[in-house]
Amino acid sequence: MPEKNCKLSMNDIVSLCKRRGFIFQSADIYGGLQGLYDYGPLGVELKNNLRDAWWKSMVYERDDVEGLDSSLIGHPLIFKHSGHEDTFSDPMVDCRDCKCRMRGDHLLDGKCDNCGSKNLTEPRQFNLMFKANFGPLEDDASFVYLRPETAQGIFINFKNVLDSTSRKLPFGIAQTGKSFRNEVTPRNFIFRVREFEQMELEFFVEPGTDEEWHEKWVQYRLEWWKEQGLAADKLKLFHQPHEELAHYAKATVDILYEFPHGFEELEGVANRTDFDLGSHSKNQDELNIFAKVSANHDSNAKLVVQNLEGKNFFVPYVIEPSAGLDRGVLAVLSDGFNREILENGSERIVLKLKPHLAPFKAAVVPLAKNNERIVEKSKEIAKKLSRLRLGRVKYEDIGNVGKAYRRHDEVGTPLCITVDFDTFEGAEESVTLRERDSMEQKRIPIREVEKFFQEFYAAGRVGNSIW
Ligand code: ATP
Repeated sequence: MPEKNCKLSMNDIVSLCKRRGFIFQSADIYGGLQGLYDYGPLGVELKNNLRDAWWKSMVYERDDVEGLDSSLIGHPLIFKHSGHEDTFSDPMVDCRDCKCRMRGDHLLDGKCDNCGSKNLTEPRQFNLMFKANFGPLEDDASFVYLRPETAQGIFINFKNVLDSTSRKLPFGIAQTGKSFRNEVTPRNFIFRVREFEQMELEFFVEPGTDEEWHEKWVQYRLEWWKEQGLAADKLKLFHQPHEELAHYAKATVDILYEFPHGFEELEGVANRTDFDLGSHSKNQDELNIFAKVSANHDSNAKLVVQNLEGKNFFVPYVIEPSAGLDRGVLAVLSDGFNREILENGSERIVLKLKPHLAPFKAAVVPLAKNNERIVEKSKEIAKKLSRLRLGRVKYEDIGNVGKAYRRHDEVGTPLCITVDFDTFEGAEESVTLRERDSMEQKRIPIREVEKFFQEFYAAGRVGNSIW
């Protein structure tokens, strides 16, 4: 067993991610673009697995949530009426000495991040939305926005989903997908980027029940992050003070995680009240469809539901757990990466991911890559396990079992299955199974491998407990 453990720094994580094919700087052959990253062969698996885990827990394991996939390009009126056009901005300042540009609300002691000078310009508001030209005409009227959050796509489809599913309150609509923000200072690897993915749920409730639902969702979400393997002592809640709340929120609780650069927001759980449905309703042309709605909105609304007695229409309140998928990937990577010094003095890097998140579900390793019988048997096992559709299974023929184990420890593969000369000895064919965290090995008959593999992933356990 390892004698000493230590976590990796952000620099270690960035270089490991590049070396092992998790995450690359986007357009690096052209010098890169700041705040944009590409996910490589292992990164895409990890990201897909984390997104799938979210979707399963939100949509498949609940009976009060529907899914949606709305467009990334947004009609300008959506973001005018949502308030983003006027208020979705950050204060930007310039350093007169080194000409660096930075966020005015992120300064330490009012000093320039880069050179420490206090010779800064007054803050100016900078809108974070990306504008794009839409259609063949390049004039001021034919523009669109790239969505800065997935939420608005849910609000504008509220009625479509309600009408097509006959849902009653409380119910939610879940969506994952890209969002775009022209951040003034993208930084800390994939923590703050200009193109990122969100996992958002808009959960519609009756006004008056919103505070109770808000508390419930904060707890559900906190528990979910723990289930993804994040250490409980690295997670904490932050109740946003009133003056920091977004324009749409009555209350917001952030779930903070201790990233390598410190405690920062991983997910925000906001009580958005009836602000969004209300303002999209208020601004519809086809008003007068329903009766008067809540006191907040003195116009007639469209995005409304009827109360239980079927009499009055009202605008539902909404609770929004909004998580960043890229921040989630960074959190599970930084929580999982460990540098261990083993009893024999050697060092191993191991990525202790929960099995459902691991990019490779197993590696099948032939002891001798020139032995036809061993190679064939290894390929046969890898194929069988792949067909179980639990995720990628790698046939790993680097020809050195020790190296193969180290390589797979580093990328978080929970199981290695080795075919060796003993495989063909004895009454029945057998293989060695090696578990990632405990490094323990066990021999099992080949006929039991598929069953073991399925049970291992159903139980989701790692370490000594798997045998
Ligand atoms: P921050 O205060 O860190 O800028 P925010 O409060 O503006 O974040 P929200 O608008 O609440 O973020 O977005 C919900 C989630 O989307 C955040 O909790 C975060 O995980 C993710 N997110 C927001 N902006 C970015 C970004 N620029 N890069 C990566 N993820 C982001």
